Amino acid sequence: MAPMDQVQRIPVTEAFIDIYDPAICLNRCVNKPCTYFCPTQVYQWWDNQIAIDQERCVECGASVMGCPYGNIDWRYPPGGTGVVIKHG
Ligand code: SF4
Repeated sequence: MAPMDQVQRIPVTEAFIDIYDPAICLNRCVNKPCTYFCPTQVYQWWDNQIAIDQERCVECGASVMGCPYGNIDWRYPPGGTGVVIKHG
């Protein structure tokens, strides 16, 4: 694991996380597992919908694997932004 001085976070100005169909979250997904499988709590359930706080994302990829409905559109942040690890 890289020491913290080798890890940088470049601010992301575009959305890189989205929900394909919010109705699935509301009507079919009983336990809202994204609210606990994400280690940094990007996903929170407020006012009967998923709230996304992408600034918390550490790009671990749990979103892609964890949603039982494949309902999370997660991509790496564009243009070299987001989490950057310097080697050497
Ligand atoms: S786990 Fe997937 S379907 Fe369930 S609330 Fe989260 S994003 Fe929606």
